[in-house]
Amino acid sequence: MARYIDNSCRVCRRENQKLFLKGHRCYTDKCAIQRRAYGPGQHGKRRKKLSEYGMQLREKQKAKAFYGVLESQFRKYFEMASEKKGVTGENLLQILESRFDNVVFRLGFANSRRQSRQLVRHGHFLVNGKKVNIPSYLVKAGDVITLKEASRQDPLFKEIIAVNAKKAMPSWLEADLENYTGKVVKLSPREEIDLPVEEHLIVELYSK
Ligand code: SF4
Repeated sequence: MARYIDNSCRVCRRENQKLFLKGHRCYTDKCAIQRRAYGPGQHGKRRKKLSEYGMQLREKQKAKAFYGVLESQFRKYFEMASEKKGVTGENLLQILESRFDNVVFRLGFANSRRQSRQLVRHGHFLVNGKKVNIPSYLVKAGDVITLKEASRQDPLFKEIIAVNAKKAMPSWLEADLENYTGKVVKLSPREEIDLPVEEHLIVELYSK
C-alpha cells in the first residue's frame, strides 16, 4: 500500500515550522528545527520569496505531511469537502481530523500519527466492537474506539498509555486510557485543529 514517506524533520525544516511529526522528540531540544532553523539541502539557508502559487502549494504540502496523506487521497478529501455544506477549507480539515489514524493518535493510543498508522494497520483497534485496520477510515460522531483485548498486555501499549495518560483531550473526543477506550463525541471544530495552515490557500489552489 502506498504511503507518505519523507524525512519528518526535513519536512518541518522545509516548511520552516514545527509540525510535530515525531512524537515526543518534537518537544525536546533534539528537535531538528531548533538546531537548524533553516531549510534542508545546499541552498536551505536562502529563503526565496514565494509566489502566490508557491504559498498555496506550501500550505497544501504542509497539510499532507501533517496527516501523512498522499496527493490522490488528499484530492479526494478536497472533493468530499467541496460537496459538503459549509466552508470547504474547514470541511477539508474536519475530514482529515476524522481519519482513524489521527483519532487513535489524538486519543493517546500512539505517540505520533506515523506510529498510529502502523498500529492501526496491525489490527490493534476496534471501532464499535469491530476490527478496523484501515488508517484512512473516517470516524463518525458516537464511534467508540477500543484497544483489542489481546493487545492490552503488550509492553508497547503500556508504555504509550503511561506517557499519554494525562494528555489534554480536545472537546470532540473522550478518552479513558485506563480502560483502553475512547469516544468520538462530535466531529472536530476548526478552532480545535492545531495544524498551522491557511486552508483557504489550499482551496484556492485546487479551485484553479
Ligand atoms: Fe519537526 Fe522537530 Fe518533530 Fe523533527 S523533531 S518532526 S523538526 S517538530
